[in-house]
Amino acid sequence: MCSSSNNDEALTRDPAVERLAGECSCGAVAYSVANEFRYALNCHCSQCRKATGSAFKPFAGIELHKLQIVRGSDALLRVGEEGAHDIRCGRCGSLLFSVVRNNLFAHVTLGTLVDTPAIRPTAHIFVDSKAAWYEITDSLPQFHGFAESRRGG
Ligand SMILES: [Zn+2]
Ligand SMILES: [Zn+2]
Repeated sequence: MCSSSNNDEALTRDPAVERLAGECSCGAVAYSVANEFRYALNCHCSQCRKATGSAFKPFAGIELHKLQIVRGSDALLRVGEEGAHDIRCGRCGSLLFSVVRNNLFAHVTLGTLVDTPAIRPTAHIFVDSKAAWYEITDSLPQFHGFAESRRGG
């Protein structure tokens, strides 16, 4: 009970698991995440479009404890409430990841990864909120709301 969860994580981290590097656009904040994403999706909801300023947000989900901030932890900007919020760089504003599912999962923006993850987005979600000026031209399945893999989350 005395040690912080960060130290526990560092001690128990599996060296055999490949790590991926990610960072914000100005470089003040960098993170490391295990190459073990559980799912990856393209979200077209209005919140994701506004948060990224883009047609949709490609992101991948992983247990929060498998992601560590390796630089600039003092420069983070948290937007939102305790159990569900966005983590941005406080200097340049890049959206790095969202903490969701009551602090259990991180939704990492694939655009901030420096390394290439093993996973690829498998579906478009919240396509009912899709921008009218953007046409989905790939053959990935499209869901009105959350994809099958996220139901109940
Ligand atoms: Zn930055
Ligand atoms: Zn969304």
